[in-house]
Amino acid sequence: MTAPPAPGATALPTSRVLDVIVVGAGLAGLRAAHDLAAGPGGRAGDMDSGMGGGLDVLVLERDGRAGGRVRTEHHGGFVLDLGAVLPYRAGDAPPGSVPGPVLPGPSRLALVIGDRVHIGADPEDCLRACGLPEPPPAVLEALFQRIHVGPPAAYLPGRVRDAFAPYSTAYRRAGNGELVHALLTGTGPGLRVAYGVSAEAVDRSGGLVRVRCRDRDGTAVTLSARAAVVATPGPATLALLDGAAGTAARSRAFLASLRYGPATVCALAFRARPRLPWAYAVTPDLSATMVLARDMGPGVGTVLQAYFMAHKAGPAAALSDAELCDRTQGLLRRLALGDRDRARNDGRDGGKGLGPVVAHAVARWPAAGTIVSPASYGTSGTWHPAVRRPLPGVFLAGDYAGVRGDCPLPYGMAAALASGREAAAGVRAYLAGPLPPPDPPTGPPPGPEPGPAPDHERSPGARHAPRP
Ligand SMILES: Cc1cc2nc3c(=O)[nH]c(=O)nc-3n(C[C@H](O)[C@H](O)[C@H](O)COP(=O)(O)OP(=O)(O)OC[C@H]3O[C@@H](n4cnc5c(N)ncnc54)[C@H](O)[C@@H]3O)c2cc1C
Repeated sequence: MTAPPAPGATALPTSRVLDVIVVGAGLAGLRAAHDLAAGPGGRAGDMDSGMGGGLDVLVLERDGRAGGRVRTEHHGGFVLDLGAVLPYRAGDAPPGSVPGPVLPGPSRLALVIGDRVHIGADPEDCLRACGLPEPPPAVLEALFQRIHVGPPAAYLPGRVRDAFAPYSTAYRRAGNGELVHALLTGTGPGLRVAYGVSAEAVDRSGGLVRVRCRDRDGTAVTLSARAAVVATPGPATLALLDGAAGTAARSRAFLASLRYGPATVCALAFRARPRLPWAYAVTPDLSATMVLARDMGPGVGTVLQAYFMAHKAGPAAALSDAELCDRTQGLLRRLALGDRDRARNDGRDGGKGLGPVVAHAVARWPAAGTIVSPASYGTSGTWHPAVRRPLPGVFLAGDYAGVRGDCPLPYGMAAALASGREAAAGVRAYLAGPLPPPDPPTGPPPGPEPGPAPDHERSPGARHAPRP
């Protein structure tokens, strides 16, 4: 059973000019929409109070659910985070929401090399235990891909240190989906989401921003707003702006320089709660990059989640869900789960210690995250804060745009949320400023496009199946 449909669902309004259209209901888009729909100080439901108050915001989301790469599913008492998995920071919760508890996770990791399992407090500890202070490339790559989605050589050189970063396996009891819910519900009626609506182009016409999209029935619709936030991953954003006259060349160049890497995640849930000596196992010699273990408490059980990152994601993505679950169980046998007293895994017990799989879920992420490369974010790369404003009234948001100070890590929930906040502030400043002169006409006036008769005011009803 998955989470219920997100609140705030709406049909597409085509007869009026909106204040703001947000494309994409991931954390970046939801945070931007939340801040724009909320009144001053994040107060809910403060509409029609001028520039400082809540604005009329419509979010367009291609999928049938909100959250994007935050995807929390509920299966028989188990909370599975198939996208962002470590807990979001409490300080990133929207004003007025109360984050649920974080369950502490041990940080001990196992590094599995050949037939040996080395356990340590952090990667350096493990490498010392293996007698590998200088890790071979495959080991370095697997440690790096605990966090990143591409080969270390493709990244800014400074990022290689991420291979050695310790990390805790704490998690939010209710999953990161609670943040998505808080963003969706925190502003009263001002924030609405049209699900199953895919944006196809963003441009300007008549002094307004125009968003051409296709609703869930395949009907082409054009919406107009005074401003827009485009909060889709880089390649999708580039495609949306492709035909827009006047798009800043540096925004195009930056978006074109972005590369993403894939990930596949397979979660298996068991009623047993073996006391594992590690919280996650990095497995350079196996078909997965790593396996994360979660004790979900008495009466629930244990979740073991295999991550197939970068070059290991493709072969995994080609398997059916059943094959992927079998493969993951094979990995667990290699890790000698249930055989807690042995450091070597030569006592494979067929996973008997875990018992049967009682729930499973698979997520395939073709674009799991950005590759932070010299061409995109390096000193000679194309990144510049102004790339986030490709057209008057159009603001870009997304983890890839969440560069902080001199530490470019444009990835993760914090980066996505920060970019959403910044985009919202930019929109407010833009709408409060002098109105730009009307653009010369470049296309048909806003409104439904020719095609099948639109049925815009119908409730979304049955939605598209969730798609990673
Ligand atoms: C397996 C995995 C594990 C992760 N673990 C962590 C972690 O532990 N900690 C952490 O901080 N981060 C983690 N992340 C990264 C984190 O999930 C992302 O950085 C963050 O959620 C990105 O948010 P976003 O809003 O920028 O983009 P997205 O979440 O990708 O949102 C973009 C939205 O735009 C929609 N969209 C795309 N195209 C269109 C279109 N044409 N029209 C309409 N809508 C469109 C998409 O459907 C999506 O909902 C993980 C990611 C993955 C995949």
